[in-house]
Amino acid sequence: MKRRKFIERLSVTSLGLVAVSSTIIACNKTVKEKRGSTTVLQPIRPVVIATWNTPLAVETAAKILQNGGAALDAVEQGCRIEEANEKGQSVGKGGLPDREGNVTLDACIMDEKGNYGAVLGVKNIKHVISVARKVMEDTPHVMLVAEGAEQFAVSKGFEREDLLTDSSKKAWEQWKVKSEYKPIINIENHDTIGLLAIDKNGDISGACTTSGLAYKMAGRVGDSPIIGGGLFVDNEIGGASATGLGEEVLKTVGSFLIVELMRQGKSPQEACEIAIGRIVNKQGKDFKNFQVGYIAVNKQGETGAYSIHEWFSYNLYKEGENKNIKSDYFNKQKA
Ligand code: ASP
Repeated sequence: MKRRKFIERLSVTSLGLVAVSSTIIACNKTVKEKRGSTTVLQPIRPVVIATWNTPLAVETAAKILQNGGAALDAVEQGCRIEEANEKGQSVGKGGLPDREGNVTLDACIMDEKGNYGAVLGVKNIKHVISVARKVMEDTPHVMLVAEGAEQFAVSKGFEREDLLTDSSKKAWEQWKVKSEYKPIINIENHDTIGLLAIDKNGDISGACTTSGLAYKMAGRVGDSPIIGGGLFVDNEIGGASATGLGEEVLKTVGSFLIVELMRQGKSPQEACEIAIGRIVNKQGKDFKNFQVGYIAVNKQGETGAYSIHEWFSYNLYKEGENKNIKSDYFNKQKA
């Protein structure tokens, strides 16, 4: 067998061995590159993928990575863009409140060493993703909730501010007229942001930030700040993040499931599809009433996304381009 053919075959074979060893994963290559007379496959780096139509967040993260920055900084800074965007009614300032009119935020972050930090049900602090990072880096804990998290944030120099904007208050007042609580299938182009990045060194980090479901019960927390639910990263394998009805993501530990499926050799796309299938199969026909969407990236920089219903999209930065891409989805039946 000619040497070149042999090397190409070897790469393909090693791709098939992903399940066996993470050392082999690190050697897998996905972009063809000519080196002398041989073609070797290189991993794609840097890569950023984020839930929904979030071009600015992804661009911010990508710039950090292009300048040689760390994936952890990239995902934090990307999330901060959406937290500060008052027009987005599901993240940070301007997020829709709970039934009592309080905006409560959830966020988590995970680095390439498997460290994790989260805050749950935080009022009055906009950049909860940075508070989550402080929990990870400056405390012996992984989660802080409600008043404790708020006090911790203030002690770290975060400023308190009113997170309820005029338009979110108006929307809540309109909702109160009927007070009907139905988690809706989100067909907007923006929601919880889950962001995954691979830096030039090949290190992977992830972050997730949200105001949770609009008009939730006071105290309700979804998947977004829960390790393995809304986010999971394993630097040897890849990362995954979720958006949509958190209760359903949590019941199947969705992001952890996707990373474990990739560990077993599934591509990011296959893993996202299997994880959605897990929810759909458990829920029978009820899946028609809610949406869940997943994104994933593996160590080679390959990405995937899948949702239950149409209208889930994600932003992907890869090989110099930042694009919003419509996700494939499970429910192709017309309503
Ligand atoms: N997953 C979030 C939650 O359940 C909400 C969302 O993504 O829309 O809190």
